[in-house]
Amino acid sequence: MVKIFFFTALLITNLFSADTGKHLSPFIRVAIITEASSLSLKTSNKIYVYDIKSNQRYMLLADSKYEISAQSEEIIRVAGQNLYSPIKLVSPNGEERIKIGGHTYRGEIILHSDAKENLTIVENIPLEDYIGGVLSFEMSPKWPLEALKAQAVASRTFAIKNLRPDDLFDITSGVEKQVYKGQQKVNPRIIKAVNSTRGEVLIHKGKPFKTYFHSCCGGHTANNRVAWQETALKPLKGVKDIYCRNSKHYKWNLYISTKDLLAFIQKKGSMALRIRSMRVFKKSGSGRAISIRFSTDRKSFTAKTYDIRKYFGTTDFRSTYITRISKKKRGYKIYGRGWGHGVGMCQEGAKIMARKGRNYKRILRHYYPHAKLSNMKDLKKL
Ligand SMILES: [Zn+2]
Repeated sequence: MVKIFFFTALLITNLFSADTGKHLSPFIRVAIITEASSLSLKTSNKIYVYDIKSNQRYMLLADSKYEISAQSEEIIRVAGQNLYSPIKLVSPNGEERIKIGGHTYRGEIILHSDAKENLTIVENIPLEDYIGGVLSFEMSPKWPLEALKAQAVASRTFAIKNLRPDDLFDITSGVEKQVYKGQQKVNPRIIKAVNSTRGEVLIHKGKPFKTYFHSCCGGHTANNRVAWQETALKPLKGVKDIYCRNSKHYKWNLYISTKDLLAFIQKKGSMALRIRSMRVFKKSGSGRAISIRFSTDRKSFTAKTYDIRKYFGTTDFRSTYITRISKKKRGYKIYGRGWGHGVGMCQEGAKIMARKGRNYKRILRHYYPHAKLSNMKDLKKL
């Protein structure tokens, strides 16, 4: 796959910055881009390129354009010069930021090449700065402070559970983990949420756990074991939630044509040529549909709701919390509740709890029952 990205090195003076406590906090390596065959780097200021292995430093001039490509697992070519992988891009001025694909990054940028001649671009950033960036995309920076603080603790815990010291990077930046697109949306409220919960994480039985969160639960959060066949965990067992019921994401519906449904079950191995009906087959304790049964001109066919949702897209097919399926002309209308996988903290509910005056500790206690608030500096092992 050919992917070309444009870099711009630019000077941003008034960028808000979380106080990183002189880098006392650990760093996290975030993969910003993976599998890029080449990159086009546009500089507005000068940039240093370090070949980490030989510690050679090269300077790229301001207002110039450079091509960067992976030649092999070992070699990255920058402006016609072969350098050893990995290379590091550093701005000589501490205030300077690097912009990649329209997003602004403040950490160190490291490029790795691989045997398939692809580049992986990783930002090495203090964990607390990363949390600020995540917060600005996972919640609106305009949301109440206590909800942002609850999200900061959940995101920090989730991040440290993802550290992978033996790999090229710790975490990806997409929606499959937590969304991170740099620092441009970070504002004073976000910084306050990060700094006032600095180092705070949630633990269960002395250890941090995967503090999942999602947009809206639809009235009851999901059980992680039922949702993903993970080990059951008390803080992720699922709770009733009255707070998100006025959210615009509380209810959804989607029409799917019988033709598309037939194509789906055929892809999953059904020999059917016609669908006669469909219904929720198995439900979880939180009310989510675990499976859906199709009655057809051949044998009936049962599909996991998780797979159906993935196939039709998680933006349209918003959750597995299905309340009704009704037959329509040449298709079915599916009615559901909430948005997202439903495990852990419901962000819409957290927002309302904060508006009603609940503090972040109370919010976390509600969505992660039996979890304890701790600080990273008090943990023996992350
Ligand atoms: Zn909810």
